[in-house]
Amino acid sequence: MTEIDSPTRESIAFRSGLDVVRAVEPQVADAIAAELTDQRRSLKLIASENYASPAVLLAMGNWLSDKYAEGIAGRRFYAGCRNVDTVETLAAQHARALFGAKHAYLQPHSGIDANLVAFWAVLSQRIESPVLSRSGVRHVNDLSEADWRVLRRALGEQRMLGMSLDAGGHLTHGFRPNISGKMFEQRSYGTDPETELIDYEAVRAAARAFRPLILMAGYSAYPRLIDFRRMREIADEVDATLVVDMAHFAGLVAGKVCTGDFDPVPYAHIVTSTTHKSLRGPRGGLVLCDETFAEQVDRGCPMVLGGPLPHVMAAKAVALAEARTSGFRDYAAQVVANARALADGLARRGTRLVTGGTDNHLCLVDVSGYGLTGRQAETALLDAGIVTNRNAIPRDPQGAWYTSGIRLGTAALTTRGLGTDGMEETADLIDTVLRATVPGPGINGKPSRAAYFLAEETAARVRSRIADLLAGHPLYPEIDLDSRL
Ligand SMILES: *Cc1c(COP(=O)(O)O)cnc(C)c1O
Repeated sequence: MTEIDSPTRESIAFRSGLDVVRAVEPQVADAIAAELTDQRRSLKLIASENYASPAVLLAMGNWLSDKYAEGIAGRRFYAGCRNVDTVETLAAQHARALFGAKHAYLQPHSGIDANLVAFWAVLSQRIESPVLSRSGVRHVNDLSEADWRVLRRALGEQRMLGMSLDAGGHLTHGFRPNISGKMFEQRSYGTDPETELIDYEAVRAAARAFRPLILMAGYSAYPRLIDFRRMREIADEVDATLVVDMAHFAGLVAGKVCTGDFDPVPYAHIVTSTTHKSLRGPRGGLVLCDETFAEQVDRGCPMVLGGPLPHVMAAKAVALAEARTSGFRDYAAQVVANARALADGLARRGTRLVTGGTDNHLCLVDVSGYGLTGRQAETALLDAGIVTNRNAIPRDPQGAWYTSGIRLGTAALTTRGLGTDGMEETADLIDTVLRATVPGPGINGKPSRAAYFLAEETAARVRSRIADLLAGHPLYPEIDLDSRL
């Protein structure tokens, strides 16, 4: 059937939706349409991004957004939350079934918010400091304004042990630019200098010396699986609460790539996640836990969250339903097979990969062998139509801004339908660009860690190869915005 005879439901939905927006503010409609064109053209290797399904996208664009629904399903501070209760309950049911968790909280607006919910839950559940009892308060949730000042001092004594940023940890795991670094005294564990893998004995030694309240596990840029059984043993040994942030690899847990000791849910006291990375849902977060922390977790709003986003919870329910299908398991397995093919393709071309390869959805490329900083590599690749992000590597001599690394993830391209052959071509495209790029002098001819030179003919040739590669794998093939209805 041709498009003229029968536009798809998706084409009708998105075209009509944009027409409605265009009637009020055409520039917004144009930007939304242009974003689709940009995403279709680019070879997206950003490890934290994906493409949500039309059903997920459409579940967000509606009047559920108009509701206030503070509280939890069945116990709201606002009237008329019947339908919000339905979507939040459904999303929680899907999350519990998908991950095998006792309790699921779907309100966090983002991954950072999910972590804040978890941290406050631990503080609320576990802290009965002498300072609190001296002020006659039994619980952090009963604090008066004066008590807060006391608490802030008390919180300064609480400790968090997390993975260091250059080893792949996340800002929310106790680092200064994030509030977690102000709430907790932080210490980090890194990776082994030789293997670049987590050294569990070193984590154990750090935990025994530091005795954290919270042991964090999880990452944004570590290309291997984590043994959560060992992490839990370490936490138990020092009476710490194990919080696992699976923001990056939730899709691999959902798709049963991370099973046994590599599945965080049976081992962590609390699991936090985003819903928009490998899980392929709407932008947002979630928290999983057992009965011990459930009541405190459910106080996420209003403790650290504003009113829930019912339209996003609706989209989470749709995405979690998708993630429960066998198709999603195939997807997760392909994401990992693709990451391995990409890593192998680069390694065969002489590129150094941190840890030598990957077991998950991402690889971390050390671009210093090309004589480049991560910053130079990132911008040169972008000129050639390859979207990545620079990322520090362990013990990075170039620091966190310029870096020596490029992080590559396969979750998005796998959604587009690319397989291992496509990854082989992608590896060759990346290697071609990086070989052809040379550091350039900055302003005033001074050496610069940002300036570079890449011949426009090379960039153009790579862009045309990308167009060929992507032509066979159209993004949102069911959506055509160009022809009129
Ligand atoms: C992406 C990420 C987050 C933050 O998610 P946002 O939705 O951007 O707030 C938290 N933790 C880890 C490990 C992440 O990778």
